[in-house]
Amino acid sequence: MRVLVTGGAGYIGSHTCIELLKDGHVPVVVDNFCNSKPEALRRVRELSGQDFPVHDLDVRDREGLRKIFLQEKPEAVIHFAGLKAVGESVAQPWRYYDNNLVSTLVLVEVMQEAGCRQLVFSSSATVYGMPDQVPLHESAPLRAINPYGRSKLMIEDMLRDLVQAEPSWRIALLRYFNPVGAHESGRIGEDPNGIPNNLMPFISQVAVGRLPRLRIFGGDYDTPDGTGVRDYLHVVDLALGHVRALDWLAQATQGGATAINLGTGQGHSVLEMVAAFEAASARAIPCDIVPRRPGDAASCYADTALAEKLLGWKAQRGIADMCRDAWRWQSQNPQGYV
Ligand code: NAD
Ligand code: UDP
Repeated sequence: MRVLVTGGAGYIGSHTCIELLKDGHVPVVVDNFCNSKPEALRRVRELSGQDFPVHDLDVRDREGLRKIFLQEKPEAVIHFAGLKAVGESVAQPWRYYDNNLVSTLVLVEVMQEAGCRQLVFSSSATVYGMPDQVPLHESAPLRAINPYGRSKLMIEDMLRDLVQAEPSWRIALLRYFNPVGAHESGRIGEDPNGIPNNLMPFISQVAVGRLPRLRIFGGDYDTPDGTGVRDYLHVVDLALGHVRALDWLAQATQGGATAINLGTGQGHSVLEMVAAFEAASARAIPCDIVPRRPGDAASCYADTALAEKLLGWKAQRGIADMCRDAWRWQSQNPQGYV
C-alpha cells in the first residue's frame, strides 16, 4: 500500500518508514524538516536498500499537498507531523496550535477530496493529564494540562466529530506512552535540538559526555523508589504498532475513530532507567535528586489490552534493549545527524 507519512523524517516517522518498507508498503514522506534532517531518510534508504518518494513541504500548504495527493495517490496516511515540546508549547502556544491543528485540518480536507479516508494519528498519553489511577485505560478522563497536550486532545475531538459526520472514515488515534531507544543498527535514532527535555536523550547525552549530570526531578513520589514511573516503549515496537494499525484499518468493515494506547503496560522508575543505561553503556551516569518538575505525575503507564485485542500488537522489547539501542545510536553518532 502507498502510505503518506507526514513527519516521516522525524524520530518515530523514520523508524516507521523502515518497518513499512519491510512489510512491503511504500512510504511517501512529507516533511518540512523543521525538527529533523534529510540525512535520517538517506539512512532509511541505506538500511532498507529501497528508495521512496520524499517531499519537502509544510503540511499546512494546501495546494502543495493537493499536488502530492494527485501525483502519489496514497491509500492511507500516518500523520506524525507536529511540534512536541511541552515547555515550548507553554511559551509559544499559538505556534503549537497553528502547526498541529492547521496541519491536521488541511490534511483531512485534502484526504477528503482525494477519497483517501484511512488515517493513523499520533496522539499521546499526555491527553490523560494527571492520572487518577494506573494503568491508564482508554476510557480514563481526558484533561490535557498544557498547550501541546490540548492540541492533541483537540485533534482527537476534531477527528471524532469528523467520523460522526462522515462515517466512512477509519481513524486510529494512537496514544503513545514514552517512546525511547533507536533502530538496532545504531544508524537512526532520536536527535533532539538543544538540551533534551526528555529523560532518555538526556541520560544518553550525559553518558556520551555532552552533558555533565542528570537532574532527577523528585525523589519523594509515592512510587517504590520515590522517583517518577513511566511506560517506556522501544521506538521499533512503536513503529510496528503503526504497521499493525494500518492493517487493522484496511480490514475494518465499518468506520470510526478509535483511541488505542501504545505502551508496554510496565512502569519503570527514573532510577531503574539510569541503572539500565549504566549497564548497557558501561558508563556511570552522575545524577542529583532535585525538586519535582511542575506538571509531572508520579506514575503513568498503559493498559494495553485494547491494542492487543484490536491490532494483535504487543511490545516485545524491554528496557535493556531500549538502553542498548539508544546507547549504540548515541555512541556512534555523538552529535546526532551531522
Ligand atoms: P519529531 O519532531 O522527531 O518528528 C516530527 C516531524 O514532523 C519532524 O520531522 C518535523 O520536521 C515534521 N513536521 C513538524 N511540523 C510539520 C509541518 N507543519 N509540516 C511538515 N512536517 C512537519 O517527533 P517524533 O518524536 O517523531 O513525534 C512524532 C509525532 O508523535 C508527533 O506528532 C508527536 O507529537 C507525537 N508523539 C511523540 C512522542 C514522543 O515522546 N516522541 C510521544 C507522544 C506523541
Ligand atoms: N526526568 C528527570 N530528569 C530529566 C528528565 C525527565 O528526572 O532530565 C523524569 C521526569 O520527571 C519523569 C520521567 O523522567 O518522571 C520521564 O520524563 P520525560 O520528560 O521523558 O517524559 P514525560 O514526563 O513526558 O512522561
